[in-house]
Amino acid sequence: MPLSRYLKSFSDPDRPGFLLLYSTRKGALVRVSEQLLATARNGTLSEPDQNILRRMELWVDDPAAEREAMLNVVERTNGSSSTFSATVVLTLDCNLACPYCFEDHFRGDHAMNDETARLLVAHIKHEQIDSGRDVELCFYGGEPLMALPRLKEIAGALQDAASIAGTKFCCSLVTNATLLTRPVVEDLLPFGLKSAQITLDGPADVHNRQRPFVSGLGSFKVIVDNLRSVYDLISIKPGGNFARDNYREFPAMLDALLEAGMDPAQIGPVQFAPIHPKSGGHDPHSAACAIGSEPWLIEANLYLREEILRRGFSVDKSRMGVCMIELTNNLVVGYDGSLYKCPALMGWPELAVGTLADGINDYRESHNLDVWKNDECLECAYLPFCFGGCRFFRKLKTGAIDGVDCRRALLDASLETIIRQDLALGRQQ
Ligand code: SF4
Ligand code: SF4
Repeated sequence: MPLSRYLKSFSDPDRPGFLLLYSTRKGALVRVSEQLLATARNGTLSEPDQNILRRMELWVDDPAAEREAMLNVVERTNGSSSTFSATVVLTLDCNLACPYCFEDHFRGDHAMNDETARLLVAHIKHEQIDSGRDVELCFYGGEPLMALPRLKEIAGALQDAASIAGTKFCCSLVTNATLLTRPVVEDLLPFGLKSAQITLDGPADVHNRQRPFVSGLGSFKVIVDNLRSVYDLISIKPGGNFARDNYREFPAMLDALLEAGMDPAQIGPVQFAPIHPKSGGHDPHSAACAIGSEPWLIEANLYLREEILRRGFSVDKSRMGVCMIELTNNLVVGYDGSLYKCPALMGWPELAVGTLADGINDYRESHNLDVWKNDECLECAYLPFCFGGCRFFRKLKTGAIDGVDCRRALLDASLETIIRQDLALGRQQ
């Protein structure tokens, strides 16, 4: 039967006798009659209809080849990637004192020193730029803008190296946005700054409780004022960390941005995430792929997604994506030169994959790279969204990256609603 194994079908309440077919590989949606689906299943589908479904990767001529293509998708992605991406921790110092901070065991006066910065620039130049790759750095902390001279030193050196080699360099920030003033952003534009992922934990009263300055004063107004003054210069990606008892208040944060005169069409995707239990790792806020599957969390994510879209803001598109641990040209660099494969895994020294000084070790076994290469996952319609789930969550749950973190229950409970939200709110699939 040449229907793709990577499709889901849902009844269409608006058109009795019709179904919604969704390709998890392509992220494409098509409305078909139940009769057409029956002819597809019994092998009598007309050639023109086959072509429509084939374009959306809902029809495959060779099911074995489809499975083989998925089996090799990471190798193909790694082989064709022309961009190197790294998250770089410049400092663990921060001017906020968020009670839930993952880094409160580590926070303090630990910043990247001259030698580590020199090694970082040399490593990226020799391993990446000299091989013709473009470079994208995401500066992270602590609060990376507390290490502004270091940021400019690294970005400037790599930008020069890229320019000489004829490749491209750009950078972004994960920042609390308290220091993201217009003069700072204007200063950083020549260094390739393109975007900033910022955090607002709901409306002012909730945010000021969750994200006060070290002095105890609230930071909400400072951040909103900064965002209003810079969002025409760089792409702002708002996020926030919610809890079970306050997520319903979070849409009010978006209302505050609207009231401040900001145009949602000019703002990047909004990504709210739950506060995770404190662990050995950093806050995975920058790894928006980390999603839990408890019922309240599924409800919270769907509720917030709808409220974001209803206000004219955007969310990240559902699409095929592997965990960045699988991607060769992706790295996380600690302030001390330690290397990891995901920001959420920092703080577990046993999961470091090397150092800038000594290079990268073989991490295939420690990070269970082929965990999804089994019959159950390869035949699962959710494989393009899941690829065995999140190693960070598996580590939180079992203490080891010793198997898949299956997202079937999460996707069973949420994908249909996500598709209906997109249809109702006129989003393109
Ligand atoms: S382990 Fe993978 S899926 Fe989980 S947070 Fe890290 S990059 Fe994302
Ligand atoms: S881990 Fe679960 S949801 Fe993910 S691909 Fe495997 S079977 Fe499917």
